[in-house]
Amino acid sequence: MFLTIGTTGTQERPATDLGFLLHKHPDKAQAFSTSHGSAHVFYPEASAERCTAALLLEVDPVALVRRGKGKGRGGAPDAALAQYVNDRPYAASSLVSVALAAVFKSALGGVCRAMPERAASPLPLRIEVPALPARGGAELVRKLFAPLGWSRVEVTAVPLDEEFPAWGDSRYVRLVLEGELRLADALRQLYVMLPVLDDAKHYWVAPDEVDKLLRAGEGWLADHPERPLITRRYLSHRWGLTRQADQALELVRLAESDDLDVGCVDNAVDESTDTEEKPVPLAEHRRTAILDALRVAGASRVLDLGCGQGQLVQALLKDVRFTEIVGVDVSMRALTIASRRLKLDRMGERQADRVTLRQGSLTYTDKRLAGYDAAVLSEVVEHLDLPRLPALEYAVFGAARPGTVLVTTPNVEYNVRWETLPAGHVRHGDHRFEWTRAEFRDWAGQVAERHGYTVRYEPVGPDDPEVGPPTQMAVFTRTAETGTTTEKKAKEAEAA
Ligand code: SAH
Repeated sequence: MFLTIGTTGTQERPATDLGFLLHKHPDKAQAFSTSHGSAHVFYPEASAERCTAALLLEVDPVALVRRGKGKGRGGAPDAALAQYVNDRPYAASSLVSVALAAVFKSALGGVCRAMPERAASPLPLRIEVPALPARGGAELVRKLFAPLGWSRVEVTAVPLDEEFPAWGDSRYVRLVLEGELRLADALRQLYVMLPVLDDAKHYWVAPDEVDKLLRAGEGWLADHPERPLITRRYLSHRWGLTRQADQALELVRLAESDDLDVGCVDNAVDESTDTEEKPVPLAEHRRTAILDALRVAGASRVLDLGCGQGQLVQALLKDVRFTEIVGVDVSMRALTIASRRLKLDRMGERQADRVTLRQGSLTYTDKRLAGYDAAVLSEVVEHLDLPRLPALEYAVFGAARPGTVLVTTPNVEYNVRWETLPAGHVRHGDHRFEWTRAEFRDWAGQVAERHGYTVRYEPVGPDDPEVGPPTQMAVFTRTAETGTTTEKKAKEAEAA
């Protein structure tokens, strides 16, 4: 059984680049042995204008039987015969999916050292699968591929026997997909959809299948309208694994719906508006509230602690009153994105002088953070394990001691207002906890008391009469030069 992957090109951008992207030379026919037979890759056509690669899997029925997985279907009344006589050699079953992953491993991963930019960009692709098992029928095949960015999804039923049209259609279809997609995305879709449509996975479903599914489904599965069917079938109806995959995908979906890729799901939503206008993302409400509070405090030298990908730093830079802005984060990746966002390398000298990005962990004291007017901890505390929180508290309120500290964190009570959030879920996979308003105030009150600050609270986002606002903010103002009360008392007790 086989499938073909084709593309078109020009003299400048020849279609034969497909050979580089698939890591298989168009001039050579190659064979690979897989656990269920041999896979062949060859190119029925290879010119600058058109290039098509074919993957042909020659299933070894005896190997299948030896592995005890050949039963498949085939409908033969004699089960013993069905072991040898079945559709596996002829249909693009899950075996082809396994072969695809083995033979085009790098392409599936989007890796192409020779042409990284072509691997990363959409190509005009044409994929044809002449005999696709379609449990669920042509309609399901269409539903599975239609949301995935193809401009043409053609599904034609294959007659049971061309000579006897009265016998009707078989359970196989011919599938043609055409559109501009990245090759890796197209291959990953096939890798998942073939076993889904086959719905008779031939091998034992190991727990790492969930990871494989999540990896292959990256970027398209979380939002797919048929996601429940896809995960269920891909994982061979193993409920535990399906649930695991679904939970992971739900978090991915929530994070993706976040307009500000930092990954806090609550950034995207705001139900406050009755108008047709696009609702203001919560992250924007948060930045506005923070900027306002910093202005009220008269701060000009500001620390953004746990700055993530630099959105707040960017907003601070736009206001000249903020003369010195320091973004700190533990994640190098976040800082790299932040520096790209800010275009630090192309910034004029005067602007560049105002901003520093620094890697560091907030659970360690850092002398360089002392002496600032204000520090912001926006959506950061909930990313720390609770037992680490006192270390952060000491580093910020005890050692750095800025005049003003702003702390924002989700108000867990508001989660019931998010219809898309499964009950009992935190808003983001990395949130170690989410506090009620009372819990937050309890913590903040004690922190203020321990370190010589006063604290007031401000709602961020629509303040729901019942459950409060989606984000809660504490504004701490320093009242004493050094930590007071508890700390002092402890010292005094020690001295006595
Ligand atoms: N402040 C940003 C990002 C919030 S996400 C915003 O409001 O959008 C939380 C950030 O805290 C992440 O970027 C994470 O890397 C950072 N972070 C978590 N623990 C940290 C620690 N111990 N030290 C420094 N940064 C930390």
